[in-house]
Amino acid sequence: MASSIIIIGAGVSGLLAARRLGEAGFIVTVLEASAGPGGRIMTITEGFSSVVEGGAEFIHGELPLSIELAKEAGLVLEPVNGHMVRLEKGRGLGDSGDRAFLGSDWGELMGKMEGLEQDMPIDQFMSEYFGGQRYGALRESVFRFAEGYDLADIRRVSTRALYNEWVREGEDEEYRLEGGYRGLVDFLVGECLRLGCRFFFSSLVKEVAWEPGKAECVAADGERYTGSGLVVTASLGVLQAGLLRFSPAVDGHMEAASRLGYGSVVKILIEFRTAFWEAAGQTLFVISEEDIPTWWTQPVQGSRLLTGWLAGGRMQAFLRLGEAQRVDACLRSLAHIFSLDAEALRKEVVVMRIVDWAAHPSVLGGYSYDTVGAADARAQLSASVEGTIWFAGEALYEGIAPGTVEAALTSGQEVAEKIIARPGPR
Ligand SMILES: Cc1cc2nc3c(=O)[nH]c(=O)nc-3n(C[C@H](O)[C@H](O)[C@H](O)COP(=O)(O)OP(=O)(O)OC[C@H]3O[C@@H](n4cnc5c(N)ncnc54)[C@H](O)[C@@H]3O)c2cc1C
Repeated sequence: MASSIIIIGAGVSGLLAARRLGEAGFIVTVLEASAGPGGRIMTITEGFSSVVEGGAEFIHGELPLSIELAKEAGLVLEPVNGHMVRLEKGRGLGDSGDRAFLGSDWGELMGKMEGLEQDMPIDQFMSEYFGGQRYGALRESVFRFAEGYDLADIRRVSTRALYNEWVREGEDEEYRLEGGYRGLVDFLVGECLRLGCRFFFSSLVKEVAWEPGKAECVAADGERYTGSGLVVTASLGVLQAGLLRFSPAVDGHMEAASRLGYGSVVKILIEFRTAFWEAAGQTLFVISEEDIPTWWTQPVQGSRLLTGWLAGGRMQAFLRLGEAQRVDACLRSLAHIFSLDAEALRKEVVVMRIVDWAAHPSVLGGYSYDTVGAADARAQLSASVEGTIWFAGEALYEGIAPGTVEAALTSGQEVAEKIIARPGPR
């Protein structure tokens, strides 16, 4: 008899695992807490005049699985050809290279990071090697970058991991998918359905009762689903918050999950009546010192969308504001960046949406980052629980693109291969 596998999560990791297991002849059931698939892929098609990404947006380089799947799905890759503008103390520093965010001390910083023998958190590294007034601005830039883009806690994030990421910065072409990442999700769901996988949406799994060779998931609505194996692709946020109970407990795995880093992010999407930034160039990526420091435009001619990005301490401050104050903060930041009047800008807003990922009830954050010792924790979390439960998802990826769609796809593929390779019935 065919073996049955339950997958918790219809994000890209769960979907790719489901497809691979379906191809290999397993009976696959996917349980998803949300009303639809995608997880941290949230392509919004309603309310805006163009396709808008509330979650993942870019393919960060020549990432094999993402590009291969996009091609298989017949999706068009659009190169991101924008130029980056850095603004400091109200002054434009002009078109900056990707690395110029760290100023002239970049070379020295990278040299010290490369030579580091014993990994340590970035705040400790900066105070040991770049302490004192001379490096004050550098420390601030480094911390802001680690918090802003890696969503990292500077007291935990690995210096070595940041080095590995920054040394590759700007090397590869980046892409968007025409029509949005949603095309990839729809393609994978179609593949899974073709292979006979069953989907249950709005099925939040609260408890997993298991014994070797059997796992029973109990959903919030009381439904029970049983399989001979279980793949858990819930985010680190969900695992760390203990939202999923295991009986008997899997303490070693949960302890490993707690040693990995997971940060959050707010994405702000605003469509204006006119693309008032066009005089500065159609495709812009702005980094500034404003309350909402990072904004970018879309490459599509005539697009009137600006996307804001906010993480770390600035995000915490933003989330303490009421709704009207949040709108004010966005308009104030944009008014400073583009030297416009905030009230005039307010009249230009057609539609605005703030996506707070920490508030997403079954994601609880943005993406993972490497803490010191992350590889060991990941190895522990990746090991199966008695050949019955496997963890997967973006946080369980070892490679050059952590915290990405590529990471999630790769992990989903790898977990499926492990299950296929295990001894026993198919
Ligand atoms: C704002 C933002 C921007 C990003 N930008 C990019 C980018 O530009 N490029 C890039 O490559 N990556 C980006 N990422 C990262 C990327 O989106 C993720 O790494 C990837 O989508 C994660 O996929 P996953 O399948 O591992 O997890 P998820 O997408 O989180 O899927 C897990 C699924 O499990 C479900 N679930 C959780 N708990 C339960 C439960 N108990 N019962 C049932 N279901 C449950 C969740 O609802 C979710 O659908 C971004 C992420 C965010 C938040």
